[in-house]
Amino acid sequence: MEYKHFGHEHNLSMYQVQPKQQLRCSGCDKFCDKTIYACWHCKFFLHEHCGNATRYIRHPFHTAHPLILSPYPTYPSNCFLCNACGTTGTRFSYCCALCEVDLHVNCAFLPPKVTHKAHPHELLLNFSNRTGDQSATNQVCKMCRKALDYNHWSYKCGVCANYGVHTLCVTHEIKMGLYQMDDGSDNESSDQGAPKTEPAAPTTQQGPSDGQVQVELTPQEALTLLHLMGLTNGASYV
Ligand SMILES: [Zn+2]
Ligand SMILES: [Zn+2]
Ligand SMILES: [Zn+2]
Ligand SMILES: [Zn+2]
Ligand SMILES: [Zn+2]
Ligand SMILES: [Zn+2]
Repeated sequence: MEYKHFGHEHNLSMYQVQPKQQLRCSGCDKFCDKTIYACWHCKFFLHEHCGNATRYIRHPFHTAHPLILSPYPTYPSNCFLCNACGTTGTRFSYCCALCEVDLHVNCAFLPPKVTHKAHPHELLLNFSNRTGDQSATNQVCKMCRKALDYNHWSYKCGVCANYGVHTLCVTHEIKMGLYQMDDGSDNESSDQGAPKTEPAAPTTQQGPSDGQVQVELTPQEALTLLHLMGLTNGASYV
């Protein structure tokens, strides 16, 4: 069984990763496990979830535009800076080119709520540390004790004031399919990029020069019509 992914020129086949086998995912740059899509010729591998990530999402972080899955960074530097975690990426991103919003695939699908054994309450995904209390200015992550950056996402406790943690310090969970577009335009991974062609009426709407279309007219009417249109290529009728 072969698959086509829009981010790769060759067909991909399914493969079961063996223990201790170290293959990096070309979508998220993390090590692959379980079932992957593979092109061995190019050493192009994708986690199943990365390979099936939808082409467009509506993300609450950037509601103005849909985010588009780009198989490579759209910048000349060949890398992007993830708005969620603040680190760079060189593989897949969900991006809005207009607004220079870029998210790692894994960051785009961080769960809205997580629980962690280190804290009794639910932690909520927070897109900006700017909102609310300004005392948060020099907050540190309660997990790693490093500074929590204003401009990037964190998880916050809704109960305890000032309990914040880096997203990646608290979870590696991803919830694929969270922000699918609800307009029914389900873009499968085998998308060829070709716009749908109308199945009916091949070439009947070619334009006025195609006299053959008028099959329901009597020959007389057709001639009249051709005459009216001033056509010279109606020769087949006479
Ligand atoms: Zn991946
Ligand atoms: Zn290939
Ligand atoms: Zn990120
Ligand atoms: Zn935008
Ligand atoms: Zn941390
Ligand atoms: Zn709490």
